[in-house]
Amino acid sequence: MSTSERVAPPPDSHAAPRAGRPVIERIETRGAEVGQLPIHRALPARERRMVGAWCFLDHIGPIGHAAGHGLHVGPHPHIGLQTFTWMIEGEILHRDSLGYRQPIRPGEVNLMTAGCGIAHSEDAPTEQPGRLHAVQLWIALPEAERRRSPAFQHHPELPRLSEGGFRATVLAGAHRGAHSPVEVHSPIIGLDLAAAAATRADLPLEPRFEHAALVLSGEVRIESETLGPDTLLYLGSGRGRLELECRSASRLLLIGGEPFGEDILLWWNFVARRPEEIEAAGRAWNERRHFGEVEGSPSARLIAPDASGLRLRAAPRQPSGAS
Ligand code: MN
Repeated sequence: MSTSERVAPPPDSHAAPRAGRPVIERIETRGAEVGQLPIHRALPARERRMVGAWCFLDHIGPIGHAAGHGLHVGPHPHIGLQTFTWMIEGEILHRDSLGYRQPIRPGEVNLMTAGCGIAHSEDAPTEQPGRLHAVQLWIALPEAERRRSPAFQHHPELPRLSEGGFRATVLAGAHRGAHSPVEVHSPIIGLDLAAAAATRADLPLEPRFEHAALVLSGEVRIESETLGPDTLLYLGSGRGRLELECRSASRLLLIGGEPFGEDILLWWNFVARRPEEIEAAGRAWNERRHFGEVEGSPSARLIAPDASGLRLRAAPRQPSGAS
């Protein structure tokens, strides 16, 4: 995906201090539009910029679309992050500047590691009417990894296990000894929890991680909170267990990780540390340098917005890990 967001937070604005203990914070998602389709953006939020290394979370659909009105995000660049796409319903065709052309279907993950720079497009595979339900997350790369070579991996199979009446899919990290094959560079967890009917579960969590939950369909009670789609529930850290209960078919995304010990700058489709890096990446893309080209997308190449104001707005940085 690509974000049209151009207003980056000051680098020191982890709006709320990192919790370091269990908390319950309800964060309303924001409506946005990606490739003609309305979506809900849960991260970054004013209240919480990140959950572990997860720094971006778009919930797309579930939505039906008319012929010719499916998802179309033209070629655009990324640096400093991994894009993580989890497909629930429908199909998206990924193309990138490394030459990969990969459809993603329900139950599959596409992981694109941007590192020092990559470009991709995401398009509905046909102009037929269809349905789409997916999440796309971005994972910030830590300092030692953020300039690595770009890469792309498609994962058609992920570990599955039962959590009470929920079917758990280990999207990233490990859960009850089941390891996701998705290669990440920070200690994180991503779980999809799907229930076909009323059920409950007592989910073990890593207490060192902070966690957040987003309902993807239905309604789930999480500890004392009843949650529908479109609200992100931030849970803080220091939890060893999480009580879940639903009264009918429901689906939940749980993300978490060790609090990210570096301040990031997220602007358009770039994650960096300094405004100069963002400006340079945007210029390189618009001048058709550095990123390579994406072949075959029916959608127009996106243009990087002017980032020259970013330097003026950037506040003095706090030492990383200060919180
Ligand atoms: Mn993208």
